[in-house]
Amino acid sequence: MLEIANLEVVYNDVVLVLRGLSLEVRDGQIVALLGANGAGKTTTLRAITGLLDIHEGDITKGSIVFDGEKVHEAEASNIVRAGIAQVMEGRRVFAEMTVDENLRTGLTNSSAADVKQSYTRVMELFPPLQSRRKDAAGYLSGGEQQMLAIGRALMADPKLLILDEPSLGLAPMLVQRIRDIIADINEQGTSVLLIEQNAVMALSIADYGYIMETGKVVMEGDPQKLLADEDVQEFYLGLHGEGERKSFHDVKHYKRRKRWLS
Ligand code: ATP
Repeated sequence: MLEIANLEVVYNDVVLVLRGLSLEVRDGQIVALLGANGAGKTTTLRAITGLLDIHEGDITKGSIVFDGEKVHEAEASNIVRAGIAQVMEGRRVFAEMTVDENLRTGLTNSSAADVKQSYTRVMELFPPLQSRRKDAAGYLSGGEQQMLAIGRALMADPKLLILDEPSLGLAPMLVQRIRDIIADINEQGTSVLLIEQNAVMALSIADYGYIMETGKVVMEGDPQKLLADEDVQEFYLGLHGEGERKSFHDVKHYKRRKRWLS
């Protein structure tokens, strides 16, 4: 469904941030994209959704194909129309607008029947929003705002939903809840690209996982295998931690050096 091949992205004509990134999301899958701060996850999202321009970013190499169409040169609005919707990091909702008004901003050129269907789907997925429909979004809790942000993306009835760090800043109970909701959305037929730093959360529902570091994929595969990998455990879960490490690469390097010294 989504295929990114050898993508390079440069900011301000000088800073090379994506260095030959390749990944794919197959129809019906949940794919986890993991990586530390600054690995290039949000840049990947911007490249897919056509929002690099406003951040002075350019695709200098590679391609992004969605549903058989090249989208790496398409306008953001056309990408939404093609069936890709995103939930940006930080639960960005319009604080002064009501829940219903926020949801309306997610609509594309849908028919009245489609709008009704999407709205019903959102209200069923997020019961807490039902009683808050006329309330300003700014008064919702953090978890409810995240639900609203996801709900707004679903109003476009996307084939592919991309979520950027939906668990960020949420209490563990709410992280579980959002995780279950993502699984429900996927079961209803929407493919998901889940960008996360919370490796356990993302890999526990993903069909496939990628780990990014400095702009490219450094590891990929079955989520359970990734979770069982010692390097992943050490870096993301801190299970074998000995001292501070700056990057996933450092963990590998440190272990090689330790083996060599012994
Ligand atoms: P985080 O988890 O912190 O959001 P990330 O993996 O999403 O990190 P990006 O936000 O894609 O990483 O950033 C990748 C690199 O690109 C970082 O070094 C960042 O400083 C740089 N970068 C991001 N946006 C811009 C920009 N508009 N101009 C220049 N450099 C940028």
